[in-house]
Amino acid sequence: MSEDKKNEIKENKKEETSEEPKKKFTFKCTRCDNCCLKRGPIPITQWDLEIWAKNGVLSNFLPYLDIYNNPNGTMDLILKPFNPKDKENKGLDNIFNQSSIEDLLEEKCPLYNKEEKKCLVYENRPLSCQTYPLEYNGQNYVIVDNDCPGIGKEGMTKEELKIMRETAQKINYELTRTRISLPIFSQILSQKVMMDLMRQNMEAMNKMSDEDRAKVDDIFKKSGPKNEPKNEN
Ligand code: SF4
Ligand code: SF4
Repeated sequence: MSEDKKNEIKENKKEETSEEPKKKFTFKCTRCDNCCLKRGPIPITQWDLEIWAKNGVLSNFLPYLDIYNNPNGTMDLILKPFNPKDKENKGLDNIFNQSSIEDLLEEKCPLYNKEEKKCLVYENRPLSCQTYPLEYNGQNYVIVDNDCPGIGKEGMTKEELKIMRETAQKINYELTRTRISLPIFSQILSQKVMMDLMRQNMEAMNKMSDEDRAKVDDIFKKSGPKNEPKNEN
């Protein structure tokens, strides 16, 4: 979703300085799934969280949520792209060796099943997936992916275009609302990471033999605070 990919369009309007009228926007998703395979961070809004909570699926999404610093300085709540190394990194390794989001910009959405070629949460997919590749920047509609093969496909009804535009406007509003609440989401996510660490710690402890656990206890006893040297003066 890089900035240089963005190409503003003013739909159905003849540009004042241009001889040619702007081409009418028409779109039909071909279900090629390219956007699910390499879209990078997918913005999540408070509206998405509210819908997921209402539908009882919020906990399914929590492991994939993160905070992303956009190149333009804003921050968003996002679905963190899938890290192929996650399959190899298990347990605590997985928590401490996570890739940065910047390394995952070309990786697939964590909720896309590559083998079955389908979105695992299609009925509850985020707003930004519902309106992709159209966005609204507060003034104009913007195509964020000129390589999307659905752009220009005939067959879009007026009603479908109306819904797509309304959804694009809605996500623009919801992103602003979500950014205001971001410190709270950030705190909730940090608490979740701590809970995961504690859970994995407990699991690791339960798997240890009594002998190894005694050795670990011994190490921590020896590394505890030493007696302060007495001030003789
Ligand atoms: S929105 Fe575009 S890129 Fe994504 S699946 Fe549809 S046609 Fe493919
Ligand atoms: S949530 Fe579903 S539709 Fe959206 S990018 Fe992920 S797999 Fe694709």
